[in-house]
Amino acid sequence: MLKENPRKQVHHVVTRPGRRHGDPDVEIPVAEDLTTTPGIPQKSEDVSFYSRVYPLESQNIEKAADREWVWTVYTEEIKKYRLRHDELNEPLVNYAHETGKIEPTGTPTQGIDHTEEIRLKARELGFGEAGFTKYDHKYAYVSKKSWVKYEHAICLALEQDYAKTQSLPSLDAETTHFGTYEVEGALALDLADYIRTLGYHAQVHSPNDNSGVYIPMFVAAGLGQLGANGQLLSPHFGSRARLAIITTDAPVTYDEPIDYGLHQFCQECQVCVNRCPGRALVKEKVWWRGAEKNKLIYDRCRPVMARYEGCAVCMKVCPIQRYGATPVMKHYVETGEILGKNTDNLEGYELSDKGYFGPGTLPQFNREFFEIPHGRKEDWLFENFKKSLEEGMPTTEEIVDFAAELKKIVDVGATTRGDE
Ligand code: SF4
Ligand code: SF4
Repeated sequence: MLKENPRKQVHHVVTRPGRRHGDPDVEIPVAEDLTTTPGIPQKSEDVSFYSRVYPLESQNIEKAADREWVWTVYTEEIKKYRLRHDELNEPLVNYAHETGKIEPTGTPTQGIDHTEEIRLKARELGFGEAGFTKYDHKYAYVSKKSWVKYEHAICLALEQDYAKTQSLPSLDAETTHFGTYEVEGALALDLADYIRTLGYHAQVHSPNDNSGVYIPMFVAAGLGQLGANGQLLSPHFGSRARLAIITTDAPVTYDEPIDYGLHQFCQECQVCVNRCPGRALVKEKVWWRGAEKNKLIYDRCRPVMARYEGCAVCMKVCPIQRYGATPVMKHYVETGEILGKNTDNLEGYELSDKGYFGPGTLPQFNREFFEIPHGRKEDWLFENFKKSLEEGMPTTEEIVDFAAELKKIVDVGATTRGDE
């Protein structure tokens, strides 16, 4: 009996610029059975409804309780590294926050479209992906809605170190994760300076102080598709990149979303779903706030991330991250299989106190492991205060400390809302 030929029909071929500035273009064949909608499948009326009635807020605010809590379970090494990173990064974040007010240094030339000049400059600076779309206020956080000044969004992705990323979860991998943010913060400021020389405004949305949910805008700008791991999968480096946005009033032309076949590929692949140590990723797609996606379970991810150097196993085991979209999609067309699936090379990882886990094996955690505080900073403060009450009445000093902490939170909240 003749064996069935596994070769797939190619539906379309996506041509993209090479990984680095000056590299030749690459071609990504998309198999017939992987073809879906360019971009993210959406019900736009639902997206609008949720953004109006249940607007989004930044994790820095909405999930501040567990962001504080992570410091209590960090290893000493990570704590030291994070403190240093925060110290280095703070001036970049603060400066970026004010960039929308800086006046242009050049004079605009009427009738000139600056898309390709800006894209070229971004690539020269080292950004692996640069795309253009409208800044979509439906994805802006409540606390940032009035901060965003200009209409056009320049979406920028900066690749992080390949070799270090493959060692995750590890301190080394965390240094490239946070180190890439530091470099990106500085490069975005340089690109904004350049845009001002063209005669236009440029507002830097720091990658560490996001103004909203960025992935839908990156997808709209054709820079990738949303993966089952909840991250942007861009063709050269999957989710091994850090994202930033610049908004501008410079005349530009928007890019179009692209079907790289990844939306459907994820349903065939499922490696990140199967390998997630926290079982935080879900096989079936759901409709969430008007978009069809694999929805990450935050409470199952956060405790793993906090205790295992940022975890990110879902990034490491992704074949698009590991090998790039071109070889992965070619392999799929030729064999109908997922490159690297079920191999230690792609799927293996090590957790510091638990050892090595190869394909088909996962670590176990007990229920307490997943208990984390929820809500905002004040919720965490109240929770701790409540716990201390269980041990007896607080001293006057403890009450004063509690009130002082609460006042700090109230003051910051007032500033964020623009009450002052
Ligand atoms: S970071 Fe780790 S725990 Fe969280 S979704 Fe990814 S693999 Fe799972
Ligand atoms: S590992 Fe597979 S399923 Fe997960 S994001 Fe990557 S391609 Fe998609």
